[in-house]
Amino acid sequence: SSTETSLKNDISATDVRGYKGHDMLAPFTAGWHTTDLEPLVIQKSEGSYVYDVNGKKYLDALAGLWCTSLGGSEPRLVAAATKQLNELPFYHSFWNRSTKPSLDLAKELLDLFTANKMAKAFFTNSGSEANDTQVKLVWYYNNALGRPEKKKFIARTKSYHGSTLISASLSGLPALHQQFDLPAPFVLHTDCPHYWRFHQPGETEEEFSTRLANNLENLILKEGPETIAAFIAEPVMGAGGVIPPPATYFEKVQAVLKKYDILVIADEVICGFGRLGTMFGCDKYNIKPDLVSVAKALSSGYMPIGAVLVSPEVSDVIYSQSNKLGTFSHGFTYSGHPVSCAVALETLKIYKERNIVEQVNRISPKFQEGLKVFSDSPIIGEIRGTGLLHGTEFTDNKSPNDPFPPEWGIGAYFGAQCEKHGVLVRVAGDNIMMSPPYILSLEEIDELIMKYGKALKDTENRVEELKFQ
Ligand code: PMP
Repeated sequence: SSTETSLKNDISATDVRGYKGHDMLAPFTAGWHTTDLEPLVIQKSEGSYVYDVNGKKYLDALAGLWCTSLGGSEPRLVAAATKQLNELPFYHSFWNRSTKPSLDLAKELLDLFTANKMAKAFFTNSGSEANDTQVKLVWYYNNALGRPEKKKFIARTKSYHGSTLISASLSGLPALHQQFDLPAPFVLHTDCPHYWRFHQPGETEEEFSTRLANNLENLILKEGPETIAAFIAEPVMGAGGVIPPPATYFEKVQAVLKKYDILVIADEVICGFGRLGTMFGCDKYNIKPDLVSVAKALSSGYMPIGAVLVSPEVSDVIYSQSNKLGTFSHGFTYSGHPVSCAVALETLKIYKERNIVEQVNRISPKFQEGLKVFSDSPIIGEIRGTGLLHGTEFTDNKSPNDPFPPEWGIGAYFGAQCEKHGVLVRVAGDNIMMSPPYILSLEEIDELIMKYGKALKDTENRVEELKFQ
């Protein structure tokens, strides 16, 4: 009908006109950015690609926000969601009521995580909620054990654990703290294990790890070991710039933590489910955690879901003390949402059927080696990564101590060139990060590297221009 036609015209006119000055208070976006610039509005996805409202195609080299591991059009995940929506779109998990998908998913997750024996899974909607839950679990545990003074957390500089009040406190990025009166006073930060940036002249990776473990021990002794409850770490730091740990780091750090009876929390929100070429980051670095946070690739990003895995030691205390301490009064309306759980179950099934770890190991060498070639660029300080995670850091003179002037916006310029050439990456200052979907074909890796190379050439020219202005 003519009404329908005019409606369609209106919608497409809106798309073409764009959304500059839109009405959404946008997460992790500067106000001026929304007012002065057109947002990139993504409309559909297909495999490793997304399309904006004007039909332009981009290789999604960050897999959404490090999450769409199976790409943007996996029909089995859509079918799993649809089936669950038809059967039971929602029921909760409070007061010992529950739904089958949440119970089945808890079992699957416990079976899948083998780095240390885990006894229970608690469901959240996000990684931030998972890490907030960690803090409450640890406090509950130490209260139950009659040691209420053991409450402090140690996290690391440059870590990212989320953006709620407590998970932002755990995070070690100044931008997450400065405007919000954070971190909370019970959170301490120890060294970022970035060898290239922080090692001393002549220091080997192993010596660097020893020094960091000593610093951690000194911090614990200074604060009083009886006050330190837990240590939280990402196996590979993600949003802080993709920083794999130096040799022997986790071995040495865990020895210190064990000595002072401090719980180990592994934040597997990015590393979990194959991203590093092992099912979990803990498998790769021999981390034996007491508590684990997962999210993102748990549902390939198709539905919001996170989880906390709890060791028998911690869960036994919570269960055995319940007569004394009463209800575990923590949970979210959508903890164990049946549609999210159904999609996560199907995601895990696909990971198993397609042997996702093997798949990542089959394609990641080409991805890593292809990008390593750019290490020679005069504007790149370091290229790093492992599995399907990549970080580039732009610096002058190949030195961690010679950053480009921030007002040059070198990282942002590179990101914009990538976008122009049809690749979406993450930019944070002069750091570039990528975590492509696991379904990337070898041709798509070639395309990614070719376009990265073009954007790099543009950026090298830009630096030349700026230097001689
Ligand atoms: N932990 C890590 C390691 C993360 O990378 C993130 C998100 N990037 C979070 C926690 C927070 O997850 P969410 O954004 O789902 O709250």
